Amino acid sequence: MSGLRRVVLASSNAGKLREMRAILAGHPVEIVSQSDLGVPPAEEDGETFVANALIKARHAARLTGLPAIADDSGLEVDALAGRPGVHSARYAGGRAGDAANNALLLRELEGVAGAARSARYRCALVFVRDAADAAPVVREASWEGRIATAPGGGGGFGYDPLFIPAGEARTVAELGGEAKNRVSHRGQALRALAAAMRDVGW
Ligand code: IMP
Repeated sequence: MSGLRRVVLASSNAGKLREMRAILAGHPVEIVSQSDLGVPPAEEDGETFVANALIKARHAARLTGLPAIADDSGLEVDALAGRPGVHSARYAGGRAGDAANNALLLRELEGVAGAARSARYRCALVFVRDAADAAPVVREASWEGRIATAPGGGGGFGYDPLFIPAGEARTVAELGGEAKNRVSHRGQALRALAAAMRDVGW
């Protein structure tokens, strides 16, 4: 026995798994991806990032019998009343993909200039000890910025070619992964969740 407690990550994203393992490196837990345990994705029909993260975590915990961690994230644009929000991944339609989502965002912001292009990435992270856990550990974080007028850079994913963090002149896709993880919504929320888990004995 290694003494490590297994926790399922309710995601099949290899990048998220890597980041999660790095940030929880000092904890006595072993993070396993739900796809490696044969868990199909949950239907994310919640109205908030926290609601969706809880749906995903409970789904993974129910199907594996293990404690679970899940995240949900997206982009909120002020001039669009917070859209695309929880619909960020499928903004331009179910399978349209990142390029179509970015093109739609630019179209919707035509005629919106300067400070009115403000936006933020948000991330919610949830830890449940089991599917019925009545006191989940929940942490949220955001990353303020604005939407560029044209895509820039080849790094990152999703809306990164259009998102310019506050205090920066370049998009996230131009900044590079390490710089991003130190300050991003997901990096902040992950570190906060890790600290909160430690506080409750994980
Ligand atoms: P999730 O995997 O269900 O949390 O979906 C998140 C969606 O929000 C992604 O598909 C992206 O469209 C967008 N998103 C969230 N975080 C980021 C980020 O760090 N960079 C770019 N896009 C992001």
